[in-house]
Amino acid sequence: MAKPTVKKTAKKEIHCPYCDEEIMKAEFPYCQSCGVTIFYCPKCRQPVARDKRICPHCGAEIKGE
Ligand SMILES: [Zn+2]
Ligand SMILES: [Zn+2]
Repeated sequence: MAKPTVKKTAKKEIHCPYCDEEIMKAEFPYCQSCGVTIFYCPKCRQPVARDKRICPHCGAEIKGE
């Protein structure tokens, strides 16, 4: 019988869209290097620079609050 291989799911790291620095996961992700708050795209969940209105990953419209 084959053992079920438990694959470690790679920890998803968030990187700053400006400087590529890794961002600590928090309720409001924040890049300490750039001093910017990072948004998540509501569609693809990728980090998007705050001043962007369109997600560079999937093209979804970002609605600022
Ligand atoms: Zn940064
Ligand atoms: Zn997106």
